[in-house]
Amino acid sequence: MNTYDTLVEELKRIHALGEVSNLLDWDEQVNLPPQSGDFRARQSAAMSAVVHREATQSRVGDLICELEQSGDLDSGQQLVLAEARKDFDRLTKIPEDFVAHKAEHLSKSYHAWAKARAENDFASYAPFLDENVKLAREEAAFLGRADDPYDYWIDRFDPGMDAATIERIFSGLKVELVPLVREILDSPIKANTHCMRGFPVERQESFLREVTAKLGFNYERGRIDRSLHPFCSGNAFDTRMTTRFFEDNPLDSLFSSIHETGHGLYEQGLPHEHVGTALGQSAGMAVHESQSRLWENQVARSREFWQYWESSYREAFPEQLAGVSSQELYLAVNAVALNPIRVDSDEVTYNLHIVLRFELEKALFDGNLSVMDLPSEWNRLSEEILGLRPGKDSEGVLQDVHWSGAAFGYFPSYCLGNLLAAQLWYALQEQVPEVLSEIAQGNFVPVLEWLREKVHRHGRHRFAQELSRDVTGKELSHECLIRYLKERYLPLYR
Ligand SMILES: [Zn+2]
Repeated sequence: MNTYDTLVEELKRIHALGEVSNLLDWDEQVNLPPQSGDFRARQSAAMSAVVHREATQSRVGDLICELEQSGDLDSGQQLVLAEARKDFDRLTKIPEDFVAHKAEHLSKSYHAWAKARAENDFASYAPFLDENVKLAREEAAFLGRADDPYDYWIDRFDPGMDAATIERIFSGLKVELVPLVREILDSPIKANTHCMRGFPVERQESFLREVTAKLGFNYERGRIDRSLHPFCSGNAFDTRMTTRFFEDNPLDSLFSSIHETGHGLYEQGLPHEHVGTALGQSAGMAVHESQSRLWENQVARSREFWQYWESSYREAFPEQLAGVSSQELYLAVNAVALNPIRVDSDEVTYNLHIVLRFELEKALFDGNLSVMDLPSEWNRLSEEILGLRPGKDSEGVLQDVHWSGAAFGYFPSYCLGNLLAAQLWYALQEQVPEVLSEIAQGNFVPVLEWLREKVHRHGRHRFAQELSRDVTGKELSHECLIRYLKERYLPLYR
């Protein structure tokens, strides 16, 4: 076996071990008995140590060095090598005692955050968050990025992206989105989401299974279960999605399931033969989110989608929908309202939440904002950007889990994903002109095939910005998202 094949075999073995570890996390959120958490923590720690040990063996480093010197690789192999180098450096340049200290601190930080949120007490959590920012800076320094720690973290989630690019894109977005949100909210037309009550969970579940299977999710190599917060994990061979149910809010489980299906379809579309290497891995968080958002929003909130599904939906819930007209249903699907909570926000106002978090993270890492001043700055900016001041910190600065896990630089991916989804949506309609009429007839194959061809099969060959250029012929920007939101929402609310 040649050196490259040996490296690939090692990478696939390490990936398979990592997926065992991920399965423990999935199981923890889906199945774990309430008092088995401590033992699961021990299992997870033990598995993490095994994965880390395997991934940092000198043998892996030697193979990488040998291949870097040989220089006789095609472009796909070069990508696999470059990404293997990046991972290996990250795992070996960060000292073990730092990793252990960070893991222990993050666990305490998570519990401090959960308690602070429940008690609306930011001050008790501030020292933990302060330490998280320090740890994030230190980790960047180990990788030689002491001068631009925030860029290091952004690149971790979206390779090739940096704060300056995001700032440019977001400032253009903000200028157009703020007045658009105002215009929609000032409309006398309001969606009535309260008209949808008493939807039995079992029927909700069978309906969403029918929808997600029709979109193309392969249930022979995947599952959907229930968890507190919906997520999608796993890989092309075994894709695990979750959802949650509310009898009085059936659109929540339906749309979060379609969202996770978008993530799942991406995983299932990655080249199976390359899973475990960069060629069989997703191209960063923004691209992943573009897939979930495109299915959830552009496809599933369209007139055409509901032209097809409305009759089955009414068949599944005849009494519940008896008094709801088609137009009321479609408005409920596309309801817009200001909400202090990001995860409960609609697709129009959602992006302003992300702009807010980006500006705060940037100020934290530039040294222009201290953790103690974060709540007041959050509230001030929230009023300025979103037009809404949270009533309390638990609905403001304390609402999201990300910072408690030192996941800085992650938030922008959500909005970049929305921008990319809108760009892909227009490119899809240009390149497959019949796509909307196919959706209206319940044929989702043209959407999935196009995404498979343009996005999924390329693994990490093209990250968000390059993918945008190659597939849509445009730089990643706010333009298509604004066009899409105007085309979908203004006629509805006028
Ligand atoms: Zn998502």
